[in-house]
Amino acid sequence: MSTLVLTEVTKLGSGDLMVELKSNDQAKKLGAIATFLDIPVTVSPHKSLNSSKGVIRSRDLRCCSEEEMVEELSGVNHARRIKVRRGEDKIQTDTVVLTFDSPKPPSRIRAGYLTLDVRPYVPLPMRCYKCQRYGHGKDRSKKPAAVCVRCGKDGHVERDCSADPFCVNCRGDHAASSKTCPKFLEEQAILRYKAENGGTFQQVVVEIHKTISTLTLMLVP
Ligand SMILES: [Zn+2]
Ligand SMILES: [Zn+2]
Ligand SMILES: [Zn+2]
Repeated sequence: MSTLVLTEVTKLGSGDLMVELKSNDQAKKLGAIATFLDIPVTVSPHKSLNSSKGVIRSRDLRCCSEEEMVEELSGVNHARRIKVRRGEDKIQTDTVVLTFDSPKPPSRIRAGYLTLDVRPYVPLPMRCYKCQRYGHGKDRSKKPAAVCVRCGKDGHVERDCSADPFCVNCRGDHAASSKTCPKFLEEQAILRYKAENGGTFQQVVVEIHKTISTLTLMLVP
């Protein structure tokens, strides 16, 4: 067996290991093994890190349902049509966000007789509504009490706040929700980079069927 190049190994909360490999080929090789340093393991692709999102737009797909798109488009495992609010109603647009089962979306996709351009999907940075920091949701916040989005102090909400704006993320004189906050712009730039360049590595999860206290892995450069 040839050498596997592990670029990063992270222990997950579940006790499983997440292993990043240099290529999909390497990931396939690791996927074929049943033991790892004499420990029985199950190797499977990481669900969310190996998928990517792209945006298509076409009037011709107007009559297609989301289910039909998942069935008809190859490599697509989820489709979400963008809806916009018009007064009380929500109306469907010609824009669809597709989830691909590859780390990077294709640049084009065939839909029957059509060939559609796929644009990278850039999500909005996720800000925690509890601690106001970026990168996690309120359910995973380490802060016990919510802080005010306007001044960063706890014990009240923005509606009742008359303090000077203070951003907990950059310490600037604006609310943490500001779209001109340098921290927001940085987060957005990272998400845009990821969307346009995709993941460079293939991640797999190694499920260990035995309790071990230490595991030493050799990293081959
Ligand atoms: Zn938080
Ligand atoms: Zn406040
Ligand atoms: Zn800020």
